[in-house]
Amino acid sequence: MTSPVKSVTLPAAQAKENSFDIDRIRGDFPILKQKIHGKPLVYLDSAASAPKPQVVIDTVSRFYSEDYSNIHRGVYELSQRSTKAYEDTRVKTRRFLNAASEREIIFVRGTTEAINLVAQSYGRTYVKEGDEIVISAMEHHSNIVPWQILVNERKAQLRVAPMDERGELKLDELERLLNGKTRLVALAHVSNALGTVNPVGRIIEMAHQRSIPVLLDGAQAAPHMRIDVRELDCDFYCFSGHKLFGPSGVGVLYGKESFLESMPPYEGGGDMIRSVTFEKTTYNRLPYKFEAGTPNIAGVVGLGAAIDYINRIGADNLERHEHELLAYGTEQLLSIKGVQIVGQARHKASVLSFVLEGIHPHDIGTILDQEGIAVRTGHHCAQPVMDFFGVPATARASLALFNNKDDIDALVRGINRVKEVFA
Ligand code: PMP
Repeated sequence: MTSPVKSVTLPAAQAKENSFDIDRIRGDFPILKQKIHGKPLVYLDSAASAPKPQVVIDTVSRFYSEDYSNIHRGVYELSQRSTKAYEDTRVKTRRFLNAASEREIIFVRGTTEAINLVAQSYGRTYVKEGDEIVISAMEHHSNIVPWQILVNERKAQLRVAPMDERGELKLDELERLLNGKTRLVALAHVSNALGTVNPVGRIIEMAHQRSIPVLLDGAQAAPHMRIDVRELDCDFYCFSGHKLFGPSGVGVLYGKESFLESMPPYEGGGDMIRSVTFEKTTYNRLPYKFEAGTPNIAGVVGLGAAIDYINRIGADNLERHEHELLAYGTEQLLSIKGVQIVGQARHKASVLSFVLEGIHPHDIGTILDQEGIAVRTGHHCAQPVMDFFGVPATARASLALFNNKDDIDALVRGINRVKEVFA
């Protein structure tokens, strides 16, 4: 069998192994090389979705041009190549998360589908009337609504662990919510609205002492730090490919094999079965039991290229770079009169959510756009967080491995421009 997916360009990260050359890394992202409204693009919205390095774009394009067909089906060469490319990403993902087995890696559409899968499949098996699911006050809607649907169906209850004014979870109150009726704790590893990095290791310990499993929503963690599901000892972990510099429409659910084995399929259809008659169907083995129908094949292949890309840079290198940038950005933003940062946890990653006295975040976003600066404005799919801080919305600048101090300086100039316009 010929090698299915070849890297077409040599990304900077590969050329300079183990070093962090920000200029060369920026060069890997073609979308950054354009002007918006006549100004160089400053992309500060990777928490919503991240740009793609050329190597991911080329890998997907080449896969469609040379290797594409359906997977797990044909005996012919193209199908074998496609299957190998798809399954190679499973191996890469297993290593990326340090999971014990490829059987624990399920490809889904994204974090949202991963959480819905667990809510429905785990929920149908383990959650009964009167049981409780614990989430936190800083969850994305994707980690609230699937649980609401479940508890409404099951006559169970959703319990919400509170946070403080800094945007840190109140751990003692969270611990008090854990009891004999708690069936699962579902928690953001990193908050998308505030940037808080939650002390998930400690929380998992608390939950496991009471035999309660834990799901981590890693959508905002996986692109910014090393993830080790075995060290964390979480029971489920979810992330989205598109925030990890990979294609959209693909993501990952990690689940401990013992749980996945005990859970029924989420969807029925092709590929997830062993045999079907009108009387009885038996299901395929893990992980295929949870992958019904033709998946996002090229998306999965592109995700593999994105994981390779991150590995070449090194999770520790990008974490260090982003940490420095976040500290610089925080200091710079706080030096602007009238700016208030929403979410000042002691341990944060990547997110600068802010409001500007007397100016609506949408106006901030519109004027920044005129300056070529892309930030997200709104409630960030975390309306309860906005309610807690008493704001309708925030402007959010989010950082990724390709951002630099010039981006922060441009943001500061942009905010000063907003103030001038509204003066
Ligand atoms: N959880 C968090 C913390 C997120 O930031 C996001 C995306 N904004 C999601 C879940 C949902 O991810 P997706 O839309 O890729 O399914």
